[in-house]
Amino acid sequence: MGIFISIDMGGTQIRAATYPQGSTEPLNIRKTPTRSGDEAPFERMCALIQAIWPKGQTVESITVALPGPLDPVSGVIFSAPNIPGWENFPLRDALKARFHVPVHIGNDANLAALGEWRYGAGKGHHDLLYLTISTGIGGGVISGDRLLLGTRGLASELGHLTVLSDGPLCGCGQRGHLETISAGPGIARYVKEQIEAGRESSLQGVAHITAKEVSQAAREGDPLSVEAFTRAGTYLGVAVADFLHIFNPSIVIFGGGVSFSGDILFKPMREALQQHVMDASYLHDLQIATAALGDEAGLMGALALAELKKAEG
Ligand SMILES: [Zn+2]
Repeated sequence: MGIFISIDMGGTQIRAATYPQGSTEPLNIRKTPTRSGDEAPFERMCALIQAIWPKGQTVESITVALPGPLDPVSGVIFSAPNIPGWENFPLRDALKARFHVPVHIGNDANLAALGEWRYGAGKGHHDLLYLTISTGIGGGVISGDRLLLGTRGLASELGHLTVLSDGPLCGCGQRGHLETISAGPGIARYVKEQIEAGRESSLQGVAHITAKEVSQAAREGDPLSVEAFTRAGTYLGVAVADFLHIFNPSIVIFGGGVSFSGDILFKPMREALQQHVMDASYLHDLQIATAALGDEAGLMGALALAELKKAEG
């Protein structure tokens, strides 16, 4: 029985796991910081793979989940803002040349969607929408049991939907994208801006305000913090209404740290969704769920892709 190697490549850490074919129980999981001294992230990734390589067993493939625009077909990373040197980097060919096994790569949010569909909260659904809300907003879409990739693998960047055409500057360089308002930094920035403009808040004088502090303050009844989450949830609901019109999923799955905020985010989200959907039939039997795979989403998503590729032959 062969072994699948899954890699979750992030800006701060690289995680690797081995899974026996047909199992979601890892044989081994290891992690290492993405950066250390002058060593290139690619070399650090290779060393981790070497360390986890199963002795005396056949490795079926290496599958890497990572952020940033990339082409899963050509295996090239277009850009990875948090990983130095990975601009137009042919990651798949570089790994193939090193390890001599099939290599697959995928956008981490896309693969998390695939993982939730195959092993997690979306099992049994044919049409699924996945949104992960943390420091940014990533997304993935399963349509008719297939992961939506687009012509160059760049589809379903759901966090970069424009909701305010002259809104705040997004990490991608454009303005007013959903993630500038509904992801963690956008929620914190709104509170900071309002305090600077003279609004009162229990967070006044707090040196480093993040979405976590805002979430706590909102729970304790701070009106400005409640307002920040209401704003984030409302825009999220407006965006999800658009996504329902485009993809008509039977389930929407939310993951990422900000999704643990609960009702302070999801109550306004649901209200906006009701208001903005063009016909109530989009909401009929629609399930709204939280992600089941948690921190394992990247590794399990990579495993899901590896299993699918193996089945395709
Ligand atoms: Zn953007």
